[in-house]
Amino acid sequence: MAVTHSLGFPRIGAGRELKQAIEAYWAGRTGLAELAETGRQLRERHWKIQSQSGIDLVPLGDFAYYDQMLNMTALLGAAPRRFGFQADALSLDQHFQLARGNAGQPAMEMTKWFDTNYHYIVPEFDLETGFGPGAEWLFDEVEEAKALRLNPKPVLIGPLTYLYLGKEKQAGFSRLELLPRLLPAYAAILQRLHASGVHWVQMDEPALGLDLPSEWIEAYAPAYAALAAVGPKLLLATYFASVAEHAGWLKSSAVAGLHVDAVRAPEQLPDLLEHFPADKILSLGLIDGRNIWRTDLSAALELAENVRSALSDRLWLAPSCSLLHVPQDLGQETGLNPELKSWLAFAVQKLDELAAIDKGLRLGREAIGAELAEQERILQARAQSPLTHNPAVRQRLEGLSDADFSRYSPFAERGPLQRERLRLPPFPTTTIGSFPQTPAIRQARAAHRSGELNEEAYRDAMRAAIREAVSKQEALGLDLLVHGEAERNDMVEYFGEQLSGYAFTRHGWVQSYGSRCVKPPIIYGDVARPQPMTVEWIGYAQGLTKKPVKGMLTGPVTMLQWSFVRDDQPRAVTALQIALAIRDEVADLEAAGVAAIQIDEPAFREGLPLKAADRADYLDWAVKAFRLASCGVADDTQIHTHMCYSEFGDILPAIAALDADVITIETCRSAMDLLIPFRASGYPNDIGPGVYDIHSPRIPGASEMQGLLEKASAAVEPERLWVNPDCGLKTRQWPEVEQALANMVDAALAMRRNAVPA
Ligand code: GLN
Ligand code: ZN
Repeated sequence: MAVTHSLGFPRIGAGRELKQAIEAYWAGRTGLAELAETGRQLRERHWKIQSQSGIDLVPLGDFAYYDQMLNMTALLGAAPRRFGFQADALSLDQHFQLARGNAGQPAMEMTKWFDTNYHYIVPEFDLETGFGPGAEWLFDEVEEAKALRLNPKPVLIGPLTYLYLGKEKQAGFSRLELLPRLLPAYAAILQRLHASGVHWVQMDEPALGLDLPSEWIEAYAPAYAALAAVGPKLLLATYFASVAEHAGWLKSSAVAGLHVDAVRAPEQLPDLLEHFPADKILSLGLIDGRNIWRTDLSAALELAENVRSALSDRLWLAPSCSLLHVPQDLGQETGLNPELKSWLAFAVQKLDELAAIDKGLRLGREAIGAELAEQERILQARAQSPLTHNPAVRQRLEGLSDADFSRYSPFAERGPLQRERLRLPPFPTTTIGSFPQTPAIRQARAAHRSGELNEEAYRDAMRAAIREAVSKQEALGLDLLVHGEAERNDMVEYFGEQLSGYAFTRHGWVQSYGSRCVKPPIIYGDVARPQPMTVEWIGYAQGLTKKPVKGMLTGPVTMLQWSFVRDDQPRAVTALQIALAIRDEVADLEAAGVAAIQIDEPAFREGLPLKAADRADYLDWAVKAFRLASCGVADDTQIHTHMCYSEFGDILPAIAALDADVITIETCRSAMDLLIPFRASGYPNDIGPGVYDIHSPRIPGASEMQGLLEKASAAVEPERLWVNPDCGLKTRQWPEVEQALANMVDAALAMRRNAVPA
């Protein structure tokens, strides 16, 4: 009989109770006792949901008030010394200070968890980093679960993934050197879990799915040999990518079990199953923990049957990864189109699917005949539904030719035409798109949503915000203006709501970081644009000023990356469909006289596959999608793009291949160092390296920004430089924005004065 288990469950609560409790506590509205009680209730509720759906081993330790990596840091007693906290008596307040900073110390860094939109707190290491007794929360939770008569399986981030995902804060040492110090701390944790009656511990090692350097790979087997001897049986869990290249040593390693992701990487199974050792279990991740579509039960059952014929009762069943990355319960979605809803499964439904597969495996297919038939009917309905098929879109895609993916002339010829048309000075100043979302804007939006404010009154309020943004930009003396994005709540949702093929849930929240949640839209069908989306707003802004106003759109890759994407066709096809919709919008903007159009791609890099071998294919279609969206314009229409991160090294050729006339990027924090690879690779088009770090409340002075621009001029020909902030300004306040932009304009003026006349 197969054991069923889950690797982790969404912790935020079906009604985002954890978010509310944490934010109330941060705001001082409630005390620690109330927060702890909410945490306890949520753990109990989530354990019960899982065990009632038939899960044999419920996860424990997947709960966190901020982040599971930060919990691991606390448990290991490894809070950075710079905070001066006592590791074995870390309070929850101090824990939050690690994540959010305090008066004396900046927060620990945060970054994306593999290729998900979840962010973890990055461990900090130096030569002196010690590990030892830390926070006690995990052990308390074991007692909590035992009191509920549950069979818990604690989940830890494994030592190598923990180290690998951390960062050295000191030159001249490698964090791998800390492993001998780290392992005894893990051993001590495992020992205590063993003493409290825990049989299995899940050790998450998703780093194994990356292209790890060999010294890291070699460290695995000895590390796990040491830990496996401590007491509890270890389930080494991998997900998000294949670990086939490690199959040999994984099978002979000392752990009692392996979990693999058979949704993302079913191709790894033959290597793993060949001579699978008789003393190990294999946990098969066969329900997609990364997406929201119903599982093909029959196919999953068939896979399980095949694996069982090799392993018999050494087979376990599970979702592919933690369910953290999907919303909790589809049952709450009363507003979705019922047909679409029947195609979906959130965390709770996924556990039901797991239970059905388990039943089918134990009792035979007939035992779940009804479920299989229902599933078959739904899959067929989805495949044939007019909701998923738009023949016009498909025809258009088929009819594309190479010319649709290229501008008419090369940049060298377009540039002068654009300068002629836009009449901008050297070192032209611009911003990234959004201006502060003021209380007035937010109130108007809320009132509009609730029906208090009618459409026309709402549009009036947005027009007022646009007037304010335009007149402030004119007063500041900026060169290329924007309308300010007042009417947009979110850069993906705003467009998704106007495109067909997109749906929006009411409660489909997924944790992004800390108490922050996002509600990714669902792309279920062929994407099309029934009518113009932004032309009226941009046209309104342009009517207010003689200066040029930039059109502002979200790019196809970002639209894809920040959504749940249909799984019944390649992502590349969906990306091209979105690109066509944006291309239409670009054409309408151009026809309305807009001379510069920005297509934001902040998520371009994030879509990069985990393994280097898969990257060329992604970059190929991602670049094509951007080009399809942007290349339909005349030579003298200027295409901008914006990306907001600072690691470009590995994707620079693709960035150049986008052939945007201007790219604005985040460079402030790296003091323009980012431009070095741009120069080295011979990046040909215009660049706007950010000179104002919008993530910080600090206002940089004109001379500081001028210094950055001078540094940039040394790396890129001054004629190709633009002057702009790092990113959009929607999270800032007007007074600081006005001050910073006034300084930025001064810096540009100084650069123009100092420039040697040609
Ligand atoms: N145009 C968007 C803005 O200014 C870009 C946001 C982003 O890069 N994430 O808000
Ligand atoms: Zn940005």
